[in-house]
Amino acid sequence: MVVTAEMRTACPKHMEYGPCGGVEFDGSCEVGEFRCVFLETPTVRWHGIAPNPESPAGTSAADVAVHRLGDAHEFAVAPQPGAAAMRALMATRPIVIADFPGRSVDRGSLRDCAQALAGRVDATLAGDSGRSRVQFSPSYRAQLIQAEGLTAWSGVNCRDRNRVALEGELAGLADVGVGGVHCVTGDHTSTGDRPDALPVFDIDSTQLAALARQAGHLVSVGESPATPPVDRRAERLREKALAGADICFINHAGGVEPVRRFIAAAHEQGIAPGFIPCVPMVVDRGSASLLRSFTTLVLPEGFLERILDAADPYQAGLDAVTELCEGLLALEGVAGVNLSGGAAPGAEVAFADAMGVVAERLGLGTHR
Ligand code: SF4
Repeated sequence: MVVTAEMRTACPKHMEYGPCGGVEFDGSCEVGEFRCVFLETPTVRWHGIAPNPESPAGTSAADVAVHRLGDAHEFAVAPQPGAAAMRALMATRPIVIADFPGRSVDRGSLRDCAQALAGRVDATLAGDSGRSRVQFSPSYRAQLIQAEGLTAWSGVNCRDRNRVALEGELAGLADVGVGGVHCVTGDHTSTGDRPDALPVFDIDSTQLAALARQAGHLVSVGESPATPPVDRRAERLREKALAGADICFINHAGGVEPVRRFIAAAHEQGIAPGFIPCVPMVVDRGSASLLRSFTTLVLPEGFLERILDAADPYQAGLDAVTELCEGLLALEGVAGVNLSGGAAPGAEVAFADAMGVVAERLGLGTHR
């Protein structure tokens, strides 16, 4: 299956390897009130990076062949030092990654949160935020984080930069030596706090994964098992793995059993990337409220109530998050956990500290 020009035009993100992770549970597009154009068509097979059809370069088969990535010799690109170190660590034990809670474009907050996490978690996922679309550029942010002794796992999206700007960021991240690069298509600008901005979507997450791999990175992608088309999400992950993804962050899917089923489905597709499930990090009403803003969120039954109705929500949150991590880490194929969520304004450092406490409780060897 190759995407037609009509499908690319109809998809607000102009995706080649759709659907995105933002398909609503009823099958409608995250951007408009119509059905996602990728739901009724077979999964698009990895066929390389086609030029943008609107560029003067055109879309001839020769162009596509020139841009084709993912062949064995192209996977032989030497990993940059940060990627090599993270690969070596992951060969010895599961890892703990924490979403980065620092305020956007605030160097002091970034420093304080990085210091609260350094030596306690294996890396911090510094990605996108719907309530703060403007962030330091990924490479500058990673440089600041790593200067505090904390490994950055940098999120890069296709909404805000075209392929040339993305290649520049990937080169910068390789120079900084980040532990990993998380490649996402990204939410549309119609969601979040900057609907005034034009979206780019020159390429999508699958194509970005190939570029990141070619730049020497350890590459992660996201997949949402609970999001339509549920029965083809593992198939779509297969194409991302063929493009160059090493790691799959499993979006909030509802607990241990849905994650187990998704990993089994991926194995049936003949792929075995390292799986890092997202674990909802909730320790108070502020963090619960932020988590609820995530798209296509599915939580284990009663998870939030158990925390928020407790006499001491902070301790109940630490207990619930730790238990869920332990259940996920016991699954075959799980390479680590991602403490996923964010803090209420002003509670960023306390939230980072809570993630550090969970990591210490898990006892995987990241302690100060
Ligand atoms: S849900 Fe995503 S992939 Fe589907 S049409 Fe909308 S933007 Fe495109």
